[in-house]
Amino acid sequence: NFMMGLSKQLQKKNNFFLSIFIFFFISNISLAKVFSSNLELNGSFTQGGLLFGKTNSKNKVYFKNKKIFVNNKGDFVLAIGRDEELENLIVIEGSVKKETHKIKISKRKYKIQRIDGLPKNKVTPNKEEMKRIKKESLKIKNSKGIFLNKTLYKSGFIWPVKGVVTGEYGNQRVLNGKPRRPHYGLDIAAKAGTKIVAPSDAEVVLTMEDSFFNGKMIILNHGLGLNSIYSHLKKINVLEGQKIKKGDLLAEVGSTGRSTGPHLDWRINVYNIAIDPELLLLNQPKF
Ligand SMILES: [Zn+2]
Repeated sequence: NFMMGLSKQLQKKNNFFLSIFIFFFISNISLAKVFSSNLELNGSFTQGGLLFGKTNSKNKVYFKNKKIFVNNKGDFVLAIGRDEELENLIVIEGSVKKETHKIKISKRKYKIQRIDGLPKNKVTPNKEEMKRIKKESLKIKNSKGIFLNKTLYKSGFIWPVKGVVTGEYGNQRVLNGKPRRPHYGLDIAAKAGTKIVAPSDAEVVLTMEDSFFNGKMIILNHGLGLNSIYSHLKKINVLEGQKIKKGDLLAEVGSTGRSTGPHLDWRINVYNIAIDPELLLLNQPKF
């Protein structure tokens, strides 16, 4: 949720090497994999990856023993969590036969990121603030859980803002010396007021003007469980319920909530499971 105190030049250099690293890293894990005439998976077979599935629309799909929604075209979406097991089972159940396939994914290594100089209450909130946080997280959780039987995400994904990546997905966080939850977003630093656009077609499911951690925030729904979150905004330019297109103006970069400088904290989830937005952008399936 923060901007790091590194010099811009160093960040640029780091990002350059990181991009090269990610390119080679991803070329090994990105694929469209055909398991059978009943199952095709397309995406990043790694922790933090997103898999787009295709099956016969009449089939039932179970991933890790959980039923997954399949639309009338046979599309479905699977999230591979930050710490997902490296082997998982997917079951495709048709009217006459049942298939079980093993999904193998690669392990990620996450960095430790230390951030100091945060206001004390933003790291260790008091009782009153904890009550507020609980209320807000329930609202956020419910919004992420909204089901939308559309595949708006098939419009593809673009970067919501141009900037410098200052916090990667998955980083282990130590805030003011205290170990905290891993970072599930992608932090992109940019000047306050920089325009943020919708990375993909979506419906706006939540806008909040003043949440404790996220400040001004927006949640978009891209269909079949896929949602995205934009935090620490300076200004919100959309309304709840609004239908938007890829590239439409969404908001302006700010530093509201738990933040030490202007940046966008961008998250992509399948319901409540966060995946890595950078992986999705660099490794887009063809729908
Ligand atoms: Zn963040």
